[in-house]
Amino acid sequence: MKIETGDQYIDSLRGRNLKVYLFGERVEEPVDHPIMRPSINAVAETYDLGVRAPELATVISPFTGERVSRFLNICTSTRDLVLQNKMQRKLGQNTGTCFQRCVGMDASNALYSTTYEMDEAHGTAYHDRFKTFLTDMHRHNYVVGGAMTDVKGDRSLAPHQQADPDMFVRVVRRDDQGVYISGAKAHQTGCVNSHWMLVMPTMRLSEADRDYAIIGAVPVDAEGITYIYGRQSCDMRAMEGGSIDTGNNLYGGQEAMVIFDEVFIPHERIFMDGEYDYAALLVERFTAYHRRSYVCKSGVGDVLIGAAANIAEMNGVPKASHIKDKLVEMTHLNETIYATGIAASYQGYATKSGCYLCDDMIANVCKHHVTKLPYEIARLAQDLAGGMMVTMPSEADLNHPEIGALIKKYLKAKESVPVEDRMRMLRLIENMTLGRNAVGYLTESMHGAGSPQAQRIQIGRAMQLEYKKRLSRVLAGIDSIDERETIDELTGYFERVFRVPEA
Ligand code: SF4
Ligand code: FE
Repeated sequence: MKIETGDQYIDSLRGRNLKVYLFGERVEEPVDHPIMRPSINAVAETYDLGVRAPELATVISPFTGERVSRFLNICTSTRDLVLQNKMQRKLGQNTGTCFQRCVGMDASNALYSTTYEMDEAHGTAYHDRFKTFLTDMHRHNYVVGGAMTDVKGDRSLAPHQQADPDMFVRVVRRDDQGVYISGAKAHQTGCVNSHWMLVMPTMRLSEADRDYAIIGAVPVDAEGITYIYGRQSCDMRAMEGGSIDTGNNLYGGQEAMVIFDEVFIPHERIFMDGEYDYAALLVERFTAYHRRSYVCKSGVGDVLIGAAANIAEMNGVPKASHIKDKLVEMTHLNETIYATGIAASYQGYATKSGCYLCDDMIANVCKHHVTKLPYEIARLAQDLAGGMMVTMPSEADLNHPEIGALIKKYLKAKESVPVEDRMRMLRLIENMTLGRNAVGYLTESMHGAGSPQAQRIQIGRAMQLEYKKRLSRVLAGIDSIDERETIDELTGYFERVFRVPEA
């Protein structure tokens, strides 16, 4: 059956034999767990947006000829790249959290071009296999997750040098049907909510790491996989049964540690096996896509700016000039994230496979902004919220027959605003800046798709200092103006910047 709606998606997750642990207990049915359900709702919204806005959130599959989620699309134009970003902003607005599907989307695009080039160099047949796999995903309109970040052990050592060889996922056994992998992936976004997972290496590998150069697709309920669900700040509030203290009662993000114990991958679902020299290319392409996917945070930022404006109004001070100025500052920061992300997509170009890749430099600049600007936006939102956001009584107190009346009397601000509404708005700001959705909006903004230093390394590699030094030497009169032609030969990264866009 092909999944079309959020409800169908939720039904498709039921009754699977997943081994998921949370708080030291195995979870029988993740779909019904109050802590997990908001993360499932967020993924469901990716389907429902496709129903409401098919041009934005779906595409016609080149493999099946039917409409599928844009999260499954292989980009064949800059338009495709740009529309991914627009969909991401909208979903950030609708959920106020991480909707978890971009890792699989970005991994699929990176794999599409990498398998093509790997086949050219090595005479392998991974690209066609990958297309067959994608066709199957399109047929069902599945959620595909991406599993990249290994637990890494001693960070100064390569995979093969680790005291425990399982610190990076690797092939531990082979037979004539395929391979068996063991190891663990940390911080896996939306893994329990996916149908399939693409397992990939996390960094550049050498010949000695050959067993670690493995890429394959596994169903999330494959034998040998254990999920240990990551707990989040204030997660237990979802167990209390109310709808105010959770802040965002509908939507949340999800991360888990995924442990592979001799998980089987048949030949037809292996897309790299030993070609260690292509691991770095895959990781670089994936991070280029994924670092501009962080425009999702501009959609989440829209919600937080709206919440800050609402609370100012509820407090009776919407017209104070410093409040207006803070909202302008928040908007300026938020649009800076969006601008750089979408610029990386507009600067996209075709790889040999025909799949479009976004601009690596600007994608890194986008993600680097994301490691900082949401923190400042969150600080300003807390400034406008006031201290009541963190000292306010609970929902149970509000509903208490005696003290509830006291809360309603003393938490009253603007006369026309019900106290409960004011509390809800404050809890939403708390949720996004200190609570469950601060995981996605803040710390994941810092470390997801690579920590800040990873972007600085990429920016440093592509910054073309020699070229820039030569430009300045000419204008300072040190080098002759006739040097310009030889300078232009140095442009490197700038060749892409100056490329004339397609009509
Ligand atoms: Fe997508 Fe953003 Fe979540 Fe990453 S953090 S999966 S880019 S919504
Ligand atoms: Fe992420």
